[in-house]
Parts: sequence; structure tokens; C-alpha cells
Amino acid sequence: MNRNRMRLICSRCSQSLPFRYQNMKCTCGGTLLVDYDVEQIASMLTKEALVQRYPSMWRYYELLPVSKPDCIVSLGEGWTPLLRMYESEKKLPIRQLWVKREEQNPTGSFKSRGFSAAVSLLKEAGVTKAAVPSNGNAAGALAAYAARAGIAAYAFIPRDCPPLIVQECTDYGAHTFLVDGLIHDAGAIIDAGKDEQGWVNVGTLREPGRVEGKKTMGLELAEQLGWKLPDVIIYPTGGGSGIIGMWKAFRELQALGWIDGPLPRFVCVQEEGCQPVVDGLAARAQVSAVSAEGACKPNPTGMRVPNPPDLELVLSTVEQSGGTAIALPAEQIASAAASLGALGISASPEGAATWAGLLAGCDSGWLRPTDSVVLFNTSHALKYATLAGLTQPRTIRSYADFRSL
Ligand SMILES: *Cc1c(COP(=O)(O)O)cnc(C)c1O
Repeated sequence: MNRNRMRLICSRCSQSLPFRYQNMKCTCGGTLLVDYDVEQIASMLTKEALVQRYPSMWRYYELLPVSKPDCIVSLGEGWTPLLRMYESEKKLPIRQLWVKREEQNPTGSFKSRGFSAAVSLLKEAGVTKAAVPSNGNAAGALAAYAARAGIAAYAFIPRDCPPLIVQECTDYGAHTFLVDGLIHDAGAIIDAGKDEQGWVNVGTLREPGRVEGKKTMGLELAEQLGWKLPDVIIYPTGGGSGIIGMWKAFRELQALGWIDGPLPRFVCVQEEGCQPVVDGLAARAQVSAVSAEGACKPNPTGMRVPNPPDLELVLSTVEQSGGTAIALPAEQIASAAASLGALGISASPEGAATWAGLLAGCDSGWLRPTDSVVLFNTSHALKYATLAGLTQPRTIRSYADFRSL
């Protein structure tokens, strides 16, 4: 197919440019997103043809920005299970409940998707050195995919992030550094070294691949549900590239004529104390934000992004979807992780936050009895384990020991 017809469109001013790699900022300050020739794709690809394809996110190749199939860098990402939660449905005032098991991706989080696409583009462009500011999972994913592609990876991670995820980066051979600061401080280090180091910054919205890769979550949801989207998606939001990507997926599916009906309402969940999406939506609706007081220190998770690169785009997307955002206290997130664990699902704090958001949405009545709801379990619990926080079962030698407990 003719990839020269791929373009970039500014999400703010709608300016359209020929596709070029890197620098996704428009002159107006908006974010450039990849725009495909949907008519051409519709003439060559059918839903029926997809069924035959390999169960990976690359089954949607025509809707991904890599031109040369040889440059695809894959570790088996995507096509994660969508698990129906029958027992929970019976207990909650909603119609259907599903969990998208993103923790089953090759690097234990959905960041695999974005970096499979981003690193493929790096390979296609002949880039040999890439850097990322990250709360952990993006760094781990860059490290793995760069290792697969033979590209040097540089990871800059706030020093309080989960030690096992930092270890994962060094295991994959990435040059790994702890930063005394937050994710935007890590980003500033990469920007400062750009000319001298010649690395490409693959941070959120810096290049086209990550949004496009995360878009496949939306494509998969549609395909796995028989081309009918759920009413509500509950998503743990940091930089928001998943929200931007999934919305883009839904619009592309509409343009292809593959789905109809209303699109899902997004519910962004965040942790109290770092809640720019919650505060931003409140400010736009001219409600005074009920921001948690400064004493509250948010945990180092993928949701802790105080300055999202294009907050306006995230907010307008959530608004267009008819969605909302909610900030949850750390204790509710911790007990949600235990609830999911008791249902056999290993959930990271981010994934658990979607369960806490579900309960809150049921309590407040925002979720309706007719709603079908999808939760995104974006990573698994073990990546966040610290030796200090591990529960130790009792040690015994015999059944008699067991009886005497
Ligand atoms: C990065 C990350 C998020 C936030 O995703 P965005 O699409 O950047 O908002 C949520 N959960 C986990 C586990 C992450 O690693």
C-alpha cells in the first residue's frame, strides 16, 4: 500500500502536513497525530480478513505507521484477553463488566504496545540511540524493545519508582538512571542532552509511535466485542496517550464503517494528590476543583504525571466522549488491588484504581444499570512488589504444625 498518503494532522488547529518523523508539536502548540488514507484502507481490508491474522497488535498493520514490515520490532504484544466478570456483574448495578488484561503484555504492562510501534519507527528511521523519562513501565518497555532492535536505550526514572521495574531496565541492558525529581524533571534532563547525546526522546507525545501503538487497545476492544463498543471505559490516566489513542481508534473505525452507535464514555482514574485531569475537567466546567490538600503525597505509579504533555487534548477527548474523571485515595486503591487479587487477577495500583473507580461510579450513580463497562488492568502487581511490603506466609514442617496454628 502507498504509505506516502499517510499525513499528520494537528489535533488543535487541524493543519495537515505530510508525514515526517519526530517532533509532534504543531506551530500552534497542539499535538500532531498520524492521519491515514482510510478510504484506501477500506478498499483493501475487511473485518473478515482480520480473523485469519496472527493474534498480535500487528494484525492492524494497515492502521499503524510503520511502512516497512521488516522493521517491525515485536515481542508478542497485544491481543490480550478480555475477561468477562460474571460474578461481579451480579453484585454491581451495571449490565456487563470486563477486564482487559494488559498485564499480560511482554513487559508486564500495556507500555509494550506503544514501544513496539515506537521502536519499529526508530529502526525504520535508522536511529541508534533513544531516551525516555518514565515512572518505570515505559522505561522497561523501551529497554526491552530497543534490546530486540539493537538500539541503545537510556532510561531516566524518578528515584522513588518501584525497584523491580528499575531492575527490569538494567536486565534488558538499558543505561538506567534514577532522577532526584518527578517525570518532567527526567524529561528536562533528556531535552538538555539532546544535541550533545543525539538521542531521540521517545517520551509521551514526542513521536508518533506510542499513541498509535496504544490505539490498538481500542481496535482490539471493538474486535473482541464483535464490533460493538462498551458503554464505558475506566482507564488509569497519566500522560493520557491511551485515551488519545483509543479515541483515535474509534474515529478510524467509524470512518472505515466498521462500527456505529455511540462511542464509549471515558472515566479517567487518578490518585488523589496528582489529579490534573480531574482538576482540569472541573476547571473547564467552572466547578471549583475539590483538589486534595497538599499533605497528600501520591505514590510513584504510571498515574503520577503532574504536567501531562497535552492536557488540553486529554480533557477535550474525555469531554467529547461524555466521560468524567475521578481521584481516588491511596487506601481505596490498595483495597481494590486486594479485591481483584481475591478474584484471581494480579493488578498493579493503576489497574486496581479502575476497580476503585468502578465502585465509586456505582455508588454515585454515574454508572447506569444499562452500562457495559471495561476496566483496563494496565500492569500486574508483582512489578510493584518491594521486599518491605511483601506478606510472608507462615513456615511449617508438617501437617501437625499446620493443625497447631
Ligand atoms: C503509563 C501507565 C499508565 C498511564 O497511561 P497513559 O496512557 O500514559 O495515561 C497507567 N498504568 C500503567 C501501569 C502505566 O505504566
